[in-house]
Amino acid sequence: MDLYSVVIPLYNEEEVVLECIRRVSGVLEEIDGDYEVIFVNDGSRDRTMELVQKECEKNRKLKVLSFSRNFGHQIAITAGMDHAQGDAVIVMDADLQDPPEVIKDLIAKYKEGYDVVYAVRSKRKGETFFKKFTSKVFYRFLRYMCNIDIPVDTGDFRLISRKVCNVMKSLTERNRYVRGLVSWVGFKQAAVEYVREERFAGETKYPLRKMLKLSMDGITSFSTKPLTMSKNLGFLTAAAGFIYMIVVVLQKFVFGKTVQGWASLAVLILLLGGIQLIMLGFIGEYIARIFDESKNRPLYIIEEKINIEKE
Ligand code: UDP
Ligand code: MG
Repeated sequence: MDLYSVVIPLYNEEEVVLECIRRVSGVLEEIDGDYEVIFVNDGSRDRTMELVQKECEKNRKLKVLSFSRNFGHQIAITAGMDHAQGDAVIVMDADLQDPPEVIKDLIAKYKEGYDVVYAVRSKRKGETFFKKFTSKVFYRFLRYMCNIDIPVDTGDFRLISRKVCNVMKSLTERNRYVRGLVSWVGFKQAAVEYVREERFAGETKYPLRKMLKLSMDGITSFSTKPLTMSKNLGFLTAAAGFIYMIVVVLQKFVFGKTVQGWASLAVLILLLGGIQLIMLGFIGEYIARIFDESKNRPLYIIEEKINIEKE
């Protein structure tokens, strides 16, 4: 009988966690196979841990990894994958935006022999226009930037087989974009469509700041195009500068025009300064990530484990 591991990251989810446990274990009791649920408490500051702890005493299949502080959603998922024992591992959000019932569809596809089954959002309910618009644009932009085929409109809600999970465990990079890594590893991949529900309660734990960080990680992990683009832009402006230089020389010596045009100078300086700063910023993003890698710190620190045997 197959064992399925469900990984659920939790960050200040006291309002949803009990309902989440109820719905998820309801679905898992019905499937053909054994299960474990690994909650990764990502440094919650509310009663999340307390609530989960009580549930774990009642049901030994519910397990917890608790971080020493907030390490972020992507790291939490990674920790869950590292500790999962299952023949297949399913990652989902705690807020029930990813309906637990879809797990059955994921498992059905897995049984057909796919190693990665990702859930594509055909519709998103109860999210702001801003969030939907920015993420739509981002997924397409990322696709344009990257050399690998990362499916659009797909979050981290997916199933991966033991084979893929083992490969994921061997990828130790720090600024992780997990959904990109899963595409990168290859294997037989399939999609299942679902309607993304409204958050059950509470509010999003992904403010704009974290979304921007995630998108930067996505781009810089899978593409060096921004660096190439800055080189190309550099050539372009240099060429334009050269042409303008000829114009200036002609004006001075052939047509004998005197100095004028403070405005055009100011515009040029501002424009070039701006472009240079943006490009430097991009280079900085890459260097910062090289710096992160070189420190070689552990990805996360576990403070407490519940129902998980020591390894
Ligand atoms: N989450 C986390 N650490 C964080 C932020 C979020 O573990 O720093 C978890 C959160 O508890 C939830 C999942 O990641 O289970 C997705 O977060 P959320 O639903 O707030 O994101 P959204 O659906 O709004 O993009
Ligand atoms: Mg959510």
